[in-house]
Amino acid sequence: MNDLILKSMDEAIEYIKKSDKIFIASHVNPDGDNVGSSLAMALALKKLNKKVILLKTDSIPEDYMFLPGVDLYQDYSDDLGPADVFIALDSSDLDRLGQNKEVLLKAHRVINIDHHITSTNFGHINIVDDKSAATGELIFYFLKRMDIDIDKDIATNLYTAINTDTGKFSYESVTSKTHRITAELIDVGISVKDINIQLYEKYSIERTSLFIKSLGTLNTYANDRISSVKVSQRMLRETNTSFDDTEGIVSFLRSIGPVEVSCLLKEIKPDEIKVSLRSKEYVDVSSICKVFGGGGHIRAAGCTIYEDLDTAESIIIKEIMKNLR
Ligand code: 5GP
Ligand code: MN
Repeated sequence: MNDLILKSMDEAIEYIKKSDKIFIASHVNPDGDNVGSSLAMALALKKLNKKVILLKTDSIPEDYMFLPGVDLYQDYSDDLGPADVFIALDSSDLDRLGQNKEVLLKAHRVINIDHHITSTNFGHINIVDDKSAATGELIFYFLKRMDIDIDKDIATNLYTAINTDTGKFSYESVTSKTHRITAELIDVGISVKDINIQLYEKYSIERTSLFIKSLGTLNTYANDRISSVKVSQRMLRETNTSFDDTEGIVSFLRSIGPVEVSCLLKEIKPDEIKVSLRSKEYVDVSSICKVFGGGGHIRAAGCTIYEDLDTAESIIIKEIMKNLR
């Protein structure tokens, strides 16, 4: 972390210390890093006797319902009034906050803590480091710098944030720093086994049916260097699942030997398709998603294409092809 980030951290800490009403918000389709980081921050600031309001926009996926503090999540209501400080976590731009974007715009101060390469630095204070493997890493350092005791509940949330955003510590974003942080979290007394079972070994039969059905749509392109799968509304109905149950499909697709880029297309509405991209070695999928107004990381990114499923697939495949060597 460079001096500029440390300076922003100190500025944020100073502001938080003199504030009372602090909002922390999740982004749309919250993932493990977003939920874990938000909960860790919320639990930590509660220790300082701050009035902490933890806002969600979409519901929290079942995978993360075991996390300590998850019952703190609430929807915004007008009687909450404006925030002294609004903390956005793991959100690269304002639209990622969904309806809570309006709440952010009314806050006295906005602190943006993130690790996306496509961050728009929308905060008054921006703690953005694209070298961090997860926002959870930044929260770990932030809480230490604030002298807050990282207890087992906070450690469980931070471990989840880092584990889920690094593909269980396997991506190139992982550094020795990542492992040093994790070692400290383990020393606090968390159970690595229990958390990993909660995260990855509690899938429902319905989710498994969706997995099978979705793989039935597998297409590959460019000598199997691209893999693509579609999930329609009909498939969700037939398997009694939701889009939360698609977590893991796109990384599975990337695990096919020759695949460099994997693609998952989700039919949100008949003409609104959410695209998730993952890459293995060299393609920058964040730049591909930027073409369609989305963003993310070099190896994991997303965007929305306003076409039907098949058209969206051919549009995104064409764009991916341009990026293959
Ligand atoms: P996922 O494919 O799991 O939805 O998202 C992968 C990564 O891309 C995450 O870091 C997520 O925050 C980011 N991402 C996904 N969709 C969008 C989008 O529409 N806009 C932006 N800016 N980032 C996105
Ligand atoms: Mn993240």
